[in-house]
Amino acid sequence: MLIDTHCHLVSNKLKDNLNQILQQAKDNGLEKIINIAYDPETIQLGLEQLHFSEMIYLTLGIQPHDAAKFTIPDAEIVRSHAKSNKRVVGIGEIGLDAYYTLSPMEKQIECFEYFLAMATELKLPVVVHVRETHSLVLDRIKQFLSKGLTGVIHCFTGTLTEAKEFLDCGFYLSFSGIVTFKNSTSLQEVAKIVPENKILIETDSPYLAPVPMRGKINEPGNLKYTCDFIANLRNISSQDLANLTKQNAETLFFRLKEKS
Ligand SMILES: [Zn+2]
Repeated sequence: MLIDTHCHLVSNKLKDNLNQILQQAKDNGLEKIINIAYDPETIQLGLEQLHFSEMIYLTLGIQPHDAAKFTIPDAEIVRSHAKSNKRVVGIGEIGLDAYYTLSPMEKQIECFEYFLAMATELKLPVVVHVRETHSLVLDRIKQFLSKGLTGVIHCFTGTLTEAKEFLDCGFYLSFSGIVTFKNSTSLQEVAKIVPENKILIETDSPYLAPVPMRGKINEPGNLKYTCDFIANLRNISSQDLANLTKQNAETLFFRLKEKS
């Protein structure tokens, strides 16, 4: 059984097809799906989508692209839902992005730090987006480690050295379909060496469909391709990698195991 630790059922490309997507997911061995909200609108939609199926869990945050919209009242809505709703399993998507810089970096940092503090107070894991911001993100994570911050670098695409720095913080690394791409040889090296207890897998649907679905709209049912690919890299069976990553997901996102 598989857990997709990061997908956006809230996105325009997926939100109107939930029946079909969830059926496809079940047919392909998915047990649970973590739906990632990333701005005030998708936070509302994500909360509504929880009623759709028990397979769906949720994280709430404001992603770096939307950080310009960040307000404290919106952030506090996240806090109140995260406190009261046990199917909210983490805080995110949050992070820093210097590749697109769709929001000013100053604002991205303000938003990121606010949610890091909130997650630490709530004792919930964070789901972090990093794009050309390795040291900026690492510095901020380190500030909260002594207060118990935990989390995952989602869709990890950094170097081996960067991977080790996040692992040293106790963070998990999650691999998306990018690892299956032909030119991802250095990322494949990273996927080989991440410790057993720190590796996660995700689809990041609707983006980044793995080979052989590359270029298509991605959905959670495609997680098996990434699972098979990484299992092969690590010389273990797909079943073993599925079990391992499921256990890791349930350890980090501990509310996945709580009865709601
Ligand atoms: Zn995402």
